[in-house]
Formats: sequence, C-alpha cells, structure tokens
Amino acid sequence: MQVPASPVQTDIVIFGGGIAGLWLLHRLRRQGLDVVLLECDALGGGQTLASQGIIHGGLKYALNGVLSPASSAIAGMPERWRQCLQGEGEIDLRGVRVLAPHYFMWSGGGYRSRLKSFLGSKALRGRIDALQPAQYPPFFQGRTLEGALYQLTDFVVDTPSLVQTLAAPHRDRIFQVPAEAVAAVHDAAGSVQQIHVMASNGQAVTLQAQRYILAAGEGNAALMQCLGGHLQSTLPAMQTRPLHMVFVRLNHPAPAFVHCIGDSFGMTPRLTITAHPSATAPEESVPDGAGWTWYLGGEIAESGVQRSAAQQQDEAARQLQDTFPWLDMSQARWGSFFINRAEPRLPNLQRPDTAYLHAAGPLLVTWPTKLTLSPDLGDSVCAELQRQGLTPGSAPSAAAALAAHFPFPGHAVPRWESAP
Ligand SMILES: Cc1cc2nc3c(=O)[nH]c(=O)nc-3n(C[C@H](O)[C@H](O)[C@H](O)COP(=O)(O)OP(=O)(O)OC[C@H]3O[C@@H](n4cnc5c(N)ncnc54)[C@H](O)[C@@H]3O)c2cc1C
Repeated sequence: MQVPASPVQTDIVIFGGGIAGLWLLHRLRRQGLDVVLLECDALGGGQTLASQGIIHGGLKYALNGVLSPASSAIAGMPERWRQCLQGEGEIDLRGVRVLAPHYFMWSGGGYRSRLKSFLGSKALRGRIDALQPAQYPPFFQGRTLEGALYQLTDFVVDTPSLVQTLAAPHRDRIFQVPAEAVAAVHDAAGSVQQIHVMASNGQAVTLQAQRYILAAGEGNAALMQCLGGHLQSTLPAMQTRPLHMVFVRLNHPAPAFVHCIGDSFGMTPRLTITAHPSATAPEESVPDGAGWTWYLGGEIAESGVQRSAAQQQDEAARQLQDTFPWLDMSQARWGSFFINRAEPRLPNLQRPDTAYLHAAGPLLVTWPTKLTLSPDLGDSVCAELQRQGLTPGSAPSAAAALAAHFPFPGHAVPRWESAP
C-alpha cells in the first residue's frame, strides 16, 4: 500500500450508512462541521431497511401499566419526526413516504391481552384512544372485534424513501469503502490518530479527523477492535438479538398496521404487522391492498429463531388466519429471513431504552437502538461534541481526496422485495 506523505483533514469520519450514520451526517453538517461518511456495503442494508419503519410513541413499553424510562424518552419522538416530515424539523424529510399515518393496537379477546392493553392505555393516558366501530381503519371496518382496538400516536414510514431522502443532499460526502480497506494509526498514547483507507488500485488515502463516530450497527464490534487502541477495554460491549422475520405478499384489499397483543405473560406483542409497497408499485395503488407485502415482527420473530424457514412460515400462516379469519390468503407468497438487532450490552441482558452514545478519546460509539430514537441520538451526539468544545477545523480536504478513489454506495433493496 502506498501511503501519501500528508494526511487529508476532516472534522468527523462517520462509519456506517444506516439511519444512525445518515442522521448524524445531517445534524453535524448543519453545525458547520466537515463530515465524511464511509459505508462498507450498500446504504440502509443493515437493520434500517429490515426494520418495520414504525415510529413509536412508547405504548409497546408500557404494557405493564408502568411508564418506564423507555416510554418516557420515546414519547416525544413521533412529534419530532412529524415536524421533519412536514419540512419544519431538524432535517427536511418531506421526500419520505408515510405508509400509515396511524398505527393501531388490538387487544383481542383474551383476558391477559385485554388487561395488558388496558394498562398500557392508562399509562399513556391522553396519547391513545380506544376506537368505536365507526372509526375503525379500512382493514377492520365492518368487523365485530373482541376486545378493544386502540389508535396510537405511532405511524409507519417507508424506509427505502427515508434512506434515499437522507442520502440525497450529501452524495458528495458518502463513500463506499470496504471494511477491510481501513487501517488505524495510533499515536504514542495508543489513541487513534489517523486512518489509512486503501483503494482497489493500491493507493491509500490517509484521513485525519478530530472525531471518529462508529454508527455501523453490528459492524461496531469490529470497528472498536480496529480503532480502539488503548481505549479498547473502556469501550462498550455489544449484544445482538436474533429475529426471524416473515413476509407475505397478499392480494387482500387494505393492508393492516397493527400490534396484536397476545395472551402470554410476555410484554412483546404477539404479532406486529406492517405492510410495504413493492418499489415498482405506484403510489396511487396504496388504497387497495394489491401489491403490498405484509411484514411480521413481534413475538413470532423472537421465538421463530428456533424454527426453520418452512416452520416459521407455517406458523405465521396459522397465526394470521387465526387472528384475522376474514383475511384472503388464497394467493399468499411467503418468505422469511434471519437478522440481528445490534445494541450495547446492558447488565442482565436488558434491552436498552434510549439511544446510546459512549465517548472515549476521539471515538464516539453509537447505537440508536431504534429507528424512532434517531432524533434522540442526534441530540446526544451534538451535545457531547459541544461539551467537548469541538469546532470546525481549517482547510478540510478529505471529501475531494476520497472522491478520487471511492464511489457513492448503492442503495440496498429491502428483503421483502424478494417475495416470490
Ligand atoms: C427486524 C427489525 C425490525 C425493526 N423495526 C423497527 C421499527 O419498526 N421501529 C424502530 O424504531 N426500530 C426498529 N428496528 C430497530 C432499527 O432498525 C435499528 O435500531 C436501526 O435501524 C439501527 O440503525 P443503524 O444505522 O445503527 O444500523 P444499521 O441499519 O444496521 O446500519 C449499519 C450500517 O453500517 C454498515 N457497516 C457495518 N460495518 C461497517 C464498517 N466497518 N465500515 C463502514 N460501514 C459499516 C452496514 O453495512 C450498515 O449499512 C428494527 C430492527 C430490526 C432488525
């Protein structure tokens, strides 16, 4: 590898082109900082495009009737996102398609599921309404439902258009750099000082940044190894939670956007359902259900890691038909895949309930822990850099040097697009 004599400068290098990296790119450039983002594969191809796109208001975390820190921190997020979607927030997200302006929760008829839904609704008093039959969304209209159907403050965004909208204004700042092309140079004290980024022609760009932000989801573990140096032992550990997600292409009119609360003792909804249009489906086809892929998470995705693809799809078919006997599944086409959620490891394997940031020397290690919490992550990172007194450096030159060797990465395709 040929290493150039003088390094090119930038204020911040972000690793990872999922929601966390792209959101931070916006927030930090708005502060006048020079920022470049390195993505090793395709934009959104980790958890972001595998997510269900639900912008949560916290109900899911209040099913035991207690407004936990999670439900408090998350409660303000839908409004922050709505402002962005209207072009009035911290990031202009007017290009993002909203798939469902409201998300619903159906208790079902079981005793425990009704109790959990009731307690959740009480904990979030004022932010959740039980609907009268005349107010039911199209999928439930004309049905006599056991239990209560609630309208939440949550809504659902189309994640491909979210990634595209975030990336578009910063195309000249985003580069596809294979993970193995990056090597760190540490100073005498063991703190990362520069990174060498090797191009396919064997030439290397040496980058010197004031800060390095790890926003690479599951990739953060390897990046901490690469960049950690003497800080290694102080950096956070990561945990992954495996899920077996199921999708099904249906021709049923009117897709469902609903948590179906189960009768178990667990606090995860039995089924969390979203629906996603095919990339080729025109926007005007939204009102009728044809061309939508239903996407199933919740308890079925957690317990499904023990099942084969065929077993998981059979189980999903059984649960869907059992829950919605009126659902037309005559032409259902099924698929499923495994994916990990990546988060900081907390004591007792707890689930983190806010966006996570750990600052150590020039490194900032981040996990949003939920798409929803991206604004919270942006706030934490901006506040931390302000606390550290970071100001824009002079004569940044990294973007131009990288552009000579590294392309803009492609956009990943959501896995549900592969429905047969
Ligand atoms: C199945 C599923 C459903 C979910 N549903 C929801 C939901 O409905 N609502 C919600 O709020 N949250 C949801 N989440 C959580 C949410 O998706 C994640 O918290 C969020 O997308 C994480 O974003 P991220 O940018 O940190 O990571 P990722 O989206 O995983 O992005 C990391 C990026 O870093 C890149 N990368 C990896 N290593 C390197 C490297 N060495 N150098 C450069 N780049 C690298 C990867 O290629 C990837 O593009 C869901 C998660 C899953 C898995």
